[in-house]
Amino acid sequence: MPKQGDDSLKTYRSKRRFTRTPEPVGKKQAVSPEPIFVIQKHHATTLHYDFRLQIGDVLKSWAVPKGPSADPGVKRLAVPTEDHPLEYADFEGIIPEGEYGGGTVIVWDKGTFHNLKVERGVPVPLEEGFEQGHLLFWLEGKKLRGGYALIRTGRYGNTGKAWLLVKKRDSEADSSRDPVRTQPESALTGRTLEEVAGQEPLPDGS
Ligand code: MN
Repeated sequence: MPKQGDDSLKTYRSKRRFTRTPEPVGKKQAVSPEPIFVIQKHHATTLHYDFRLQIGDVLKSWAVPKGPSADPGVKRLAVPTEDHPLEYADFEGIIPEGEYGGGTVIVWDKGTFHNLKVERGVPVPLEEGFEQGHLLFWLEGKKLRGGYALIRTGRYGNTGKAWLLVKKRDSEADSSRDPVRTQPESALTGRTLEEVAGQEPLPDGS
């Protein structure tokens, strides 16, 4: 009998040819006592940041064009994408041109998180918050720390729904910090996107 995580990865697998792309097929079940998050900087057709939160046995995913902010006054568009397997959190490398998502990926930040969402004194499970379109969580990453919210707001494009990623006002909020700009390197290997791609810096300097 297929596990729920397998069903949830159907879209992910259907978009990829694993004989051509180095990305993982996805077999791992949750083992860590705390859920993980990862933010991958991905230079495909355009540069964006893939924000992924472990909910159950998969990584729920959003593409954030401008990347996350440490400033509570800044709202960042987050467009939902297909669930990814847990082992994708360590994926860094080159997806061949012509393959889905073709381009270069680095792990920009990675760590654990915990759920902050409570209603009438009762914790709201992550799965439920996701269905409601409202997640509230505390990140423990190398670059990002503190409370963040992901809030579904309305329609985006023809089919998808728009979410917003917003830093909460807490001890880790800092409007003077812009980690996307000042800390461009991989949290796993210290390499930049250009080093992984073996290319010259991108025209926008990122
Ligand atoms: Mn991407």
